[in-house]
Amino acid sequence: MFTSKLIPISFKRLLAVFLVSTIFSASSAIFDDPEVRHHLKTGIQTVVIDAGHGGKDPGAVGTRVVEKDIALKIALKLGNYIEENIKDVKVIYTRKTDVYLELFERAKIANENKADLFISIHVNANPNPVPFGVSTHILGMNQENQNLDVAIRENSVILMEEDYQTRYEGFDPTSAESYIMFSLMQNTFLKQSIEFGSLVQDQFRERANRKDRGVIRQPLLVLRETAMPGVLIETGFISNPDEQKYLMTGEGQSIIASAIFRAFRDYKEIIENRSHFNNDISPREDTADTAEPDVDPSLIFFRVQIASSRNRVPADPSAFKGYQDVSIIEEGRWFKYVVGGNADYNMALEQCRKVKKDFPDAFVVAVRGDKIFPLSEALIEINK
Ligand SMILES: [Zn+2]
Repeated sequence: MFTSKLIPISFKRLLAVFLVSTIFSASSAIFDDPEVRHHLKTGIQTVVIDAGHGGKDPGAVGTRVVEKDIALKIALKLGNYIEENIKDVKVIYTRKTDVYLELFERAKIANENKADLFISIHVNANPNPVPFGVSTHILGMNQENQNLDVAIRENSVILMEEDYQTRYEGFDPTSAESYIMFSLMQNTFLKQSIEFGSLVQDQFRERANRKDRGVIRQPLLVLRETAMPGVLIETGFISNPDEQKYLMTGEGQSIIASAIFRAFRDYKEIIENRSHFNNDISPREDTADTAEPDVDPSLIFFRVQIASSRNRVPADPSAFKGYQDVSIIEEGRWFKYVVGGNADYNMALEQCRKVKKDFPDAFVVAVRGDKIFPLSEALIEINK
């Protein structure tokens, strides 16, 4: 069992400084990158779905089931939903049966097929049976003293590969030095990966009723090796008895897969709308109640989301328990209803606490111009 204790705190701090500076210098120039421009132009044509582990590699071992089997079932369901419902997307699986694949082979499949998105499906585990919930991981690091359990556990699959040190350029998943080397590369696809990850977590939280553990940056080897936006989704904890039971059921697997499917559908639409917009094919028309002409579009505001819907509901106070200041934000196929507005995050949290009396599921969102963007990014940006 590998734990984060293998990496001393001082190393983590050093690492975090390294990574944060590397990643953020990369993201500012993201739209100048020709590869990113390619993805924005062509939209989402090919997705690679990677069921983690397989064959001799069981992944995390629960009391009643192993990770590789749950990952495969969810991956196949997800692929099937996309194939059935989004005909213009080609779905490629790294595995469709219980076979062992080396980590670099998974990335190679995605790279050779020039995938537009890489989705790796896994199941989390912890020595403690209490933790539960779903998280989506993207390449990078979140903060100093970050818990690297997921990266160490998932990267350690390469220890089963012969000659892994040559293949992964001396990378040792259990050593702190390896993670420092890792930090020297740039995550070209950070922005899109975060965007997709946030949609996945939104779906898990709002529609699938799972505990949202967030979009988390982790130095994951499989994401480092893939040349496209990508995420690794931990679909729950096999070590939590209730969640293990849920993940073993066909219904639980379907709910998880359909949440990822809806996030994929929304992401595709957002990326493709944006590429049209960038190409001036169909510029978006702002409607009266989404435009905010008096607000500097570069400023970040924290607002409280109280509801969302597929069909546009007029922002009439009678429809929203008397709230006078409801604005509508259009995002993909969704209309999101927000109230309040604060440049100060803590004030927004306070406001949210009050709004929850009327809308118990309310939560704080970051808004710039007329777009919601990931809260984690907003908080980093305002703290710069
Ligand atoms: Zn795994």
